[in-house]
Amino acid sequence: MSKITRRDFVNGSATLIATSVLSSAQTPAFGSEEKPTYPPSLTGLRGSHPGANTYAHRRAWNADFDAGAIHDTGEDYDLVVVGAGLSGLAAAYSYRRQFGPRAKILILDNHDDFGGHAKRNEHLINGKKIISYGGSQTLVEPRLAAPAIRTLFEDVGVDLCRFDTAFDKGFYKKHGLGATTYFNAEHFGQDRVVQHPFCNYYNYIVGLQGAAISNEEAVAQTPLGERGQAQLLKVLQGGLHSLNVPPETRSDYIKSHNYFDYLTGTLGVDDPQVLRMARNSAIDWSSASAELLTIEQAMKSGALGFAPVTSYNDEQPYVHHFPDGNAGVARALVKYLIPDIAEGNTAESLVTAHFDYRELDQADRPTRVRLNSTVVDVHHNGDVDSADTVSIRYVRDGTAHEVTAAHVVMACYNMMIPHIVADLPERQATALGQQLKSPLVYTTLGLKNWKAFKEAGIGLAMSPGNMHQTLFMDFPVSLGGYRYTSAPDQPCIIQMISCPYSEEWGKPRNEQYREARYQMLGRQFADYESEVRQHLSGMLPPKYFDFDRDVASITVNRWAHGYTVAGPGSSVRLGRVPHGRITIANSDSAPAADAIAAMEMGLRAVEELSA
Ligand SMILES: Cc1cc2nc3c(=O)[nH]c(=O)nc-3n(C[C@H](O)[C@H](O)[C@H](O)COP(=O)(O)OP(=O)(O)OC[C@H]3O[C@@H](n4cnc5c(N)ncnc54)[C@H](O)[C@@H]3O)c2cc1C
Repeated sequence: MSKITRRDFVNGSATLIATSVLSSAQTPAFGSEEKPTYPPSLTGLRGSHPGANTYAHRRAWNADFDAGAIHDTGEDYDLVVVGAGLSGLAAAYSYRRQFGPRAKILILDNHDDFGGHAKRNEHLINGKKIISYGGSQTLVEPRLAAPAIRTLFEDVGVDLCRFDTAFDKGFYKKHGLGATTYFNAEHFGQDRVVQHPFCNYYNYIVGLQGAAISNEEAVAQTPLGERGQAQLLKVLQGGLHSLNVPPETRSDYIKSHNYFDYLTGTLGVDDPQVLRMARNSAIDWSSASAELLTIEQAMKSGALGFAPVTSYNDEQPYVHHFPDGNAGVARALVKYLIPDIAEGNTAESLVTAHFDYRELDQADRPTRVRLNSTVVDVHHNGDVDSADTVSIRYVRDGTAHEVTAAHVVMACYNMMIPHIVADLPERQATALGQQLKSPLVYTTLGLKNWKAFKEAGIGLAMSPGNMHQTLFMDFPVSLGGYRYTSAPDQPCIIQMISCPYSEEWGKPRNEQYREARYQMLGRQFADYESEVRQHLSGMLPPKYFDFDRDVASITVNRWAHGYTVAGPGSSVRLGRVPHGRITIANSDSAPAADAIAAMEMGLRAVEELSA
């Protein structure tokens, strides 16, 4: 791995991508006079965009961080929410519902857009606006959600039944698009696409076709050597029956034994390319590099060598997807909180609505959302048990500001809270500090047409040799006047996912995350662009694809702190205990990398305020 220093990291995350042809036109420089007025349409480095984490990192890394002279805004609120993700927005919704529309609420977030991980990406391709998502993707089993969440959906106008028809389940079959594997020349000696995914990762995409050819045919088509091919076939034909353990102890065995030990010990795999395929086969389903998984975790994550099982059944299909992913829910919540922000009465009608970001923070409105504002200090004014108010300091445009509130919900990353709320009991601070998040990159690619995908039969490709370990055609959802592409000569979005690990196999998970984060944030846009260029150019037939001709735009959504990964033992429960006038939300406090859980935590945090 190339050495990346902390200095590079800070600079990297704040540096603009001046060299990029595709991004420079649309992304204003951080700190420049030119302010983005409509963040979803920005391309280039998004997700945690350049500058978003500067003050949070300064706060976390320097015990004696000084935000400078504090500007007292004189603003006083009933509730301040730290974090405008789904959890924070749900908390504000719940407070407003409980205390009425005149309750004074301020929501602060360090990003230039609301929604947190629920991020909307727009691409303008040949004059047509194509909508996609840069993070939180789909509502998981929302019809099984708690009554309070179903009420929230009703209140903000999310009609779950609409997804039954909005998601075109026959799209992939109709166009002959299946799950495939792309072997790149860099790691496998030659560029080759095989019509077989060699794992179960693809299975959550409703209607996506699986392997088009048999295991034997597929293995023979791989660019692996003879030995590698034989081992790959053995893995595909393997499974739990190959374990030499009595059936009654098998369940305990797979919970406690390592997946890679099973591959190497039980199945005798030593071919580095087969192990590379295994390592990259579970991607974000496991939130860890596969060599760290138990056999059971690997099986549940759809890793190489386990028979495909349908991930979601017909009653709870994985179709509750807005064209902008869960940003559709975030927008509906913001519309509930600030009705003048956009035209439309249902979440569906908001899909194509323009949001006027100037409406977010107006002095004459009871609810305000203040973006680009990193909270660096929250403290009770007096003794925790008897104080009447809490002061909240945040940095915006380089200046520290202060507001006061009767209550605060911390809906931000839980591991950050001890750095902000200094008077937490030590045990609670330690517990919060143990809540982890895995790094992830979701790149959306605006393509002028998808003729090459159609021609190659690629609905999804596993790419074990690439930084983006998988890519797929965006979900076929048409909703609220928005129409998904219906023919290969039309523009579309390709989603590319990278779940970065350490170069060094077997390192503990935390260390792999740290190393991957440094790499992710140290890379410039041009580095990502170069990977996307090589990836697609190597994979797609040159007759139908030319990168410079066919790619309109690229948005790289970097999430240095992505999926919630629960800390040890009872640390989650200990960490989320109310602290005086401050309560704790975010998906970390559930713990679950899940939109519904995140919103539930927002509702719980408000209940605790009024308890
Ligand atoms: C790439 C990706 C894909 C995902 N896909 C799915 C999916 O398909 N389905 C699903 O259910 N879940 C998915 N998730 C999980 C996702 O975390 C949840 O769905 C949900 O969006 C989490 O919401 P949240 O409010 O808890 O956290 P976040 O969305 O992280 O919101 C917290 C906000 O607080 C802000 N913040 C942090 N510190 C400060 C500070 N000091 N001052 C001000 N603001 C601060 C953060 O920047 C962020 O904007 C995905 C997550 C990622 C990263």
